[in-house]
Amino acid sequence: MSDHTARVLEELGFRWDPDNLYHQVISQVLSAAQGMDLPHHLQLIVAQPKAEIMVHFPVKMDDGSFRLFKGYRVQHNNICGPYKGGVRFHPEVSLDHVKTLSALMTMKCALAGLPFGGGKGGIQVDPRTLSEDERMRMVRRFTAALGDNIGPDHDIPAPDVGTGAQDMGWMADTYINMTQVAHRGMGNAAVTGKPLAFGGSEGREKATGQGLVFVLEDVLPEMGLPLDQLTYSVIGFGNVGSWTARLLAKHGSKLTAVTDHKGAILNEEGIDAQKLAQHVSATGSVVNFPGTRAGSCEDFYAHGVDLMVPAALEQMIGANEAKMIQAKVIAEGANAPTTPAGDRVLAQRGIKVLPAILCNCGGVTVSYFEWVQNRTATYWDAQRVDTELQQHMRSATARVLAQAEACGGDLRAASYSAALAKLAEVYGIRGIFP
Ligand code: NAD
Repeated sequence: MSDHTARVLEELGFRWDPDNLYHQVISQVLSAAQGMDLPHHLQLIVAQPKAEIMVHFPVKMDDGSFRLFKGYRVQHNNICGPYKGGVRFHPEVSLDHVKTLSALMTMKCALAGLPFGGGKGGIQVDPRTLSEDERMRMVRRFTAALGDNIGPDHDIPAPDVGTGAQDMGWMADTYINMTQVAHRGMGNAAVTGKPLAFGGSEGREKATGQGLVFVLEDVLPEMGLPLDQLTYSVIGFGNVGSWTARLLAKHGSKLTAVTDHKGAILNEEGIDAQKLAQHVSATGSVVNFPGTRAGSCEDFYAHGVDLMVPAALEQMIGANEAKMIQAKVIAEGANAPTTPAGDRVLAQRGIKVLPAILCNCGGVTVSYFEWVQNRTATYWDAQRVDTELQQHMRSATARVLAQAEACGGDLRAASYSAALAKLAEVYGIRGIFP
């Protein structure tokens, strides 16, 4: 960390902790900010969220008892438009985690040129322990607790780890029921990632994986890695990991290793991504997928591939994992999967990293399309969604590559610089109120 970054963090009262996810991500953002001489006051602004909302709310369980849940919504920045970002259900959701993800949403939306700022939310819960009715009551009560803190013009939640279309449907319905009649018409624009029948968009479910594959189509052949000859591995086979794999299969790329929360599977001859997705739907994990052998964590990381796609949780590639990895390129489907220490090892070893705010901005881009469709009461077919997504991903990729070319930095620094340049431009026009 540079002296200047340390001074900004000190000015904000941070007690530096190298293992803290928020400190890790903000120090990378600040380092990019200093590289482009971003004004000091803007560095302070982007280093802290605008609002951190924490709610505690009781929910009646099926056995008649009550359980108190802790929920978060962090609103990082809205200079470019309403806050936008997912809602996560996971036992390790914490304020610092949600703050980090909200800051990354600000960067992602700015890089993708979307009229949104960054937000993120979550509930500290293992959703697998809840019945469907308990889950519905928890989602509705959380939405009620957030109240006016969300809305189509203010802050628009979406799915993330542990949440899906049905949860977004319940959130939107609760929001509509709690909204004045005059504003109900476009109330479903308050939440994206909803089921198709209730104002969801074509292509939203696969959007993040599809966006990532569009980036790979643009970048990998230029690096001498044509997709039809590519071998790759995936960490996490949920929404992002499984869709990336299913779409790469159409290019003829060969999936040879996958790991998830229960274990790793390997097969050098190739793993059928479509059938594996069905296996995960039926069993909850990739383990015991027929035709593959089980492997340890070390077996997975040390397995030789052209491309590795981390698509699970944050901080999965630290220095130790980075030393083991035998891949030429890493495309970050997950948010912040690589720690700064991991980044340094990968750079020393010449392994290229395609950064998360570029690789996974397809999800929020199709959420934006959904919000536009809801607000204009229109319907876009799948072809239109794909075409527009490809255009957005192409121009975001071009911005990052141009920034890297101009400044000579790595692609992570270039992606943050491109995002910060957009924020600085809008701050330059709007100024600081009053
Ligand atoms: P998901 O809940 O659908 O899947 C998560 C996957 O991670 C599961 O396969 C799970 O088994 C695996 N996992 C959990 N703990 C693990 C561990 N310790 N080791 C290995 N695997 C583990 O989540 P998702 O929506 O696919 O999100 C994955 C990542 O992508 C997250 O970082 C999320 O913030 C990011 N992201 C998601 C979207 C989206 O549209 N869903 C958009 C942008 C970014």
